This record gives sequence, C-alpha cells and structure tokens, in this order.
Amino acid sequence: MTKIKFLLLLLITTISIQAQTTYILCGKLVDTKEGKIKEKQTIIVEQNKIVNVIDGYVAPKSKTAKTIDLKNKVVMAGLIDMHVHIEQEFSAKTRLNRYILNEADVAFNSVGFAKTTLLKGFTTVRDLGGTGVNIAIRKAIDAGKIPGPRVFTAGKSLATTGGHADPTNGSSRVLTGNPGPKEGVVNSVEDAKKAVRQRYKNGADCIKITATGGVLSVAKSGDNPQFTIEEIKAICETAKDYGMHVAAHAHGDEGMQRAILGGVKTIEHGTYMSTTTMELMIKNDVYLVPTITAGKEVEEKAKIKGFYPDIVVPKALKVGPQIQGTFAKAYKKGVGIAFGTDAGVFKHGNNGKEFGYMVEVGMPAMETIQAATITNAKILKMDTEIGQIKKGFYADIIAVNEDPTVNINTMENVVFVMKNGIVYKRK
Ligand SMILES: [Zn+2]
Repeated sequence: MTKIKFLLLLLITTISIQAQTTYILCGKLVDTKEGKIKEKQTIIVEQNKIVNVIDGYVAPKSKTAKTIDLKNKVVMAGLIDMHVHIEQEFSAKTRLNRYILNEADVAFNSVGFAKTTLLKGFTTVRDLGGTGVNIAIRKAIDAGKIPGPRVFTAGKSLATTGGHADPTNGSSRVLTGNPGPKEGVVNSVEDAKKAVRQRYKNGADCIKITATGGVLSVAKSGDNPQFTIEEIKAICETAKDYGMHVAAHAHGDEGMQRAILGGVKTIEHGTYMSTTTMELMIKNDVYLVPTITAGKEVEEKAKIKGFYPDIVVPKALKVGPQIQGTFAKAYKKGVGIAFGTDAGVFKHGNNGKEFGYMVEVGMPAMETIQAATITNAKILKMDTEIGQIKKGFYADIIAVNEDPTVNINTMENVVFVMKNGIVYKRK
C-alpha cells in the first residue's frame, strides 16, 4: 500500500468512527429490566450499538460527536410488537384484494405500513402471517432500502383445509384449487413437517398455526379446534429442528390446549381460555399475546353494514368483546404476558393503544412496557440485544413526552425514534 493510500484510509476510518458517536441526554430513562425510571442519564451510541449508559448529563469529548437533547422526555428501549401483519390493513375491500392484487401491489402497500410502525416506536415486530411478501419486506428493511422495524416473520400461516388460514376460504370453486403444504395447508403429520420445512426454505423466522377457527376468515366457526395434536406436535418438533418457535392463533379452549401440549411458545388472542388452560400455560412456560386492540376493532367494524362478509359479523360481535376480559383473568392468574396487537386487523400505527387497554383492566403500566420489551425480546431469543438500554445492545431507542406510569396514553405518541443508531423521528 502506498503511503498516500494508507493516510487516506486512516482519515476515512477516523471520520466515520467519530461522526457516528451520539450522546443522548435523557431527562428520564425507563430501566425495563429493573422496572424503574432513572433521572438524568446519558446514553452513548456508536454506529448501531449502545456503548455506554452514564449517570448524569455528560458532554461529548470529541467535537465531531453529536448530542441529542431529550432532557424533557421519557426515554426507553424500542418497543416490540409480537403480532402484526405487515403486508395488510383490513378494509371492506380486503376479500376482493386477495383476487385483484399482485405481489408487487402488496409489497408497495406494506412499505408504508412498515414505516408507520417504526415511526410509532415499534423498532421490532413479529409478523404472524401474510403471503410471503413479508419475507421480502424483512430483507429490504435489513438492507436499508426502506425504513421499518426489525422483522421476524412467519411467512405464510399454517392451516388445515377450510381452516382459519386456508388461503382459498370462501372462494368460488373455479379459484379454489387444492392448496397443500407448499401453500401452508396441512392435513396430516407428513404434511405438517413438509409445510414447516417449506417455510424454512422460503426464509421464515418462526411458524404460525391457526389452531382454531378465527374471526375474519370466511368460515362458520370462530373457535373450533382445527389441527390434531399429532399434527401440532409434528409442526413444533420440526420447527425446533430449524431453530424456529411456534405461535398459535387460538380462540377456543380445546384447540388452545392441544397447541400448548403440542409445544407452541405463544397463544395469540386466547379468547375462551379456561382456568385449566391458564394453569397449563404457566406449567409449560407458554405466553399469552392478548391483541385487545384487534378485539375492540372487529367489534366496532362488525356494526358497520357490509364492512365484513355476513358470515364474519356474528363471530366478530361474539369474540371481540371477550378478549380484554380474558387477558385480565390470565394476567391475574399469573400467565406470562407478551405484548402483541394484531396490527393490520386495525390501522398500522395504532399499536400503542394496546398499552392503555392492558392498564385499564389491571396490569401496571411498567409491566406492560416490560412485556413489550424484556418479555418479547426473550421469546425472540434476542434478550441480550434488544429490549433494554444497556451497553452492547442495539441502539433501538424511543422517547415519549410524559411518564407512562402516570399517563399510559403517552405511549400512543412516540416523539423520538432511533433504530440501529439511525434517527428516524425527532419532534
Ligand atoms: Zn393476526
């Protein structure tokens, strides 16, 4: 190497390291691990990582370092939503969209959904089902092509024939075809293994099954069991081989019990959960993802004539109002609670409403924030990288105007967002 080339390289390296050091002065900082709020803290960020957290306000040593003044804000780790559908946003046209939109249309729509989610403070999401475009979205975000949260996706959800995530439910016979494991429809133990391996091949990070009927599918039952326990066991065992955990959509109690005994990690919704099932969840270290916001949304939208297909309306009116009450009982019983909303069933960006709904029925505000950070990071096996403002963690940092333990609704109004050391929002 010539001397000039060496000096140039040294100069470029020095500039890039120095330019990327940021001092964030926090008036209040939520310690999600301890469940406490600390006063006057300084977070030092270099590139995409937190390199130090110091008591008091510290001025940068280097002139090239940046300072971000959040002295009148409450700062915390970026939020994690364990249940979103980043590809879609439900409307009266959703059923038609399935037949008229191409993958490119879906992709362009989801660019906006991903950005909105990030700007509302959700720096990580678990996406629980779409067409497979969700995998491409994750790649585009990771590559820095579009702004969005860190995505863990299930790709396409797994269902049985006619089950909640059978992609051809309610279609005319001309369009129905015969979807199988490749399309995420399984009807045997062998199908189950193949469907999981196919998801792995497609690039999914986790597996989602629809263990019972659901509200928004064009099918009669919203709560019947839809897999045999042998099929669920085959799914969970195969997923484990590939380093993936399994999330189970479940409203009915029987399907929920089969899912828990079959080895899933989270129960989504959990509407008709019995006390026995709650005990089973505690025993097997299975978490409930409440999705109260989605329950409220379907109840409200079901009252608008024509918004949902006729077969969906009675299910929405019955299931929707139950979800918050079940969550309250499960929390009091000691079931592990993961924060998740089902955004996409309602407008992306409204994820923060879930905090208020959880607090409303008895979960302390700090614990709801811990659910959305510490607990979710643990389920994603990312608990040494996200969910805390701590040395060595990713610089996923957000801020709100008020103390959330005083006014939880402040979580709906995130005013500062940094993900991976890059500032995306600053009000
Ligand atoms: Zn969902």
